[in-house]
Amino acid sequence: MTLPAIHIEGLTKRYGSGDTAVDALKGVDMSIAPGEVVGLVGPSGSGKSTLLKCLGAVIEPTGGRMQLGGQNIYDGSASGWQIDDLRALRRDRIGFVFQAPYLIPFLDVTDNVALSLMLAGKGNGIARQRALELLQALDVAHRAGAAVSELSGGEQQRVAIARALANQPPVILADEPTAPLDSERALTVMHILNQMAQQYQTAIIVVTHDEKIIPTFRRIYHIRDGKTYEEAGEGRTI
Ligand code: ADP
Repeated sequence: MTLPAIHIEGLTKRYGSGDTAVDALKGVDMSIAPGEVVGLVGPSGSGKSTLLKCLGAVIEPTGGRMQLGGQNIYDGSASGWQIDDLRALRRDRIGFVFQAPYLIPFLDVTDNVALSLMLAGKGNGIARQRALELLQALDVAHRAGAAVSELSGGEQQRVAIARALANQPPVILADEPTAPLDSERALTVMHILNQMAQQYQTAIIVVTHDEKIIPTFRRIYHIRDGKTYEEAGEGRTI
């Protein structure tokens, strides 16, 4: 049996305390297999960012459990975080893709991807070689030596995806990755994410409101007022 890449049980998050406390997550359950791409859909203020931040070990949940690849990461009933080095967890096991690509303007395309590998301790040559392989897989290798500013929005987002995949994290958290793109480019980005998930067995959570891409998910978690509800999606291929 394959262990889920992400498994969450009864996750809660309370901001603040006393009269002003806000319960942003009220018992979230979620289980995502390696290679699966799921949508996380909900209105503003429903808890999407809070859930991603907890999963990305950016903020500490208040209660419940989170596991990555079967390993306990957080257990609210047993002193919280279950691992010491949260920085290494974020660097090696979780990739982030944001609405804006946030590429580094003074590095060329290859070095933007290679930098993540170098920060994880890879040598310069190996890092650049792996970066080029990823750029090839994402069909932007012809832009490898270009400055970031020369790229289209769609190309920049592909480079951002290559960067997120660089250290082959088992999990990628994508926050509105298609929001600035037109319909065709948005669907292409989803196609790429699905392909990469298959190829590298990465579990990908895509937070979105984007009606254009919602039909592509096989499974969707709706979040409303801090609670999640699972629904089968159309899983439409592009
Ligand atoms: P979404 O990403 O779906 O818009 P959020 O996770 O940002 O939702 O917010 C969920 C709830 O938690 C909202 O009521 C929001 O006001 C509240 N919230 C978010 N961040 C904080 C914070 N740092 N302090 C207090 N309340 C917060």
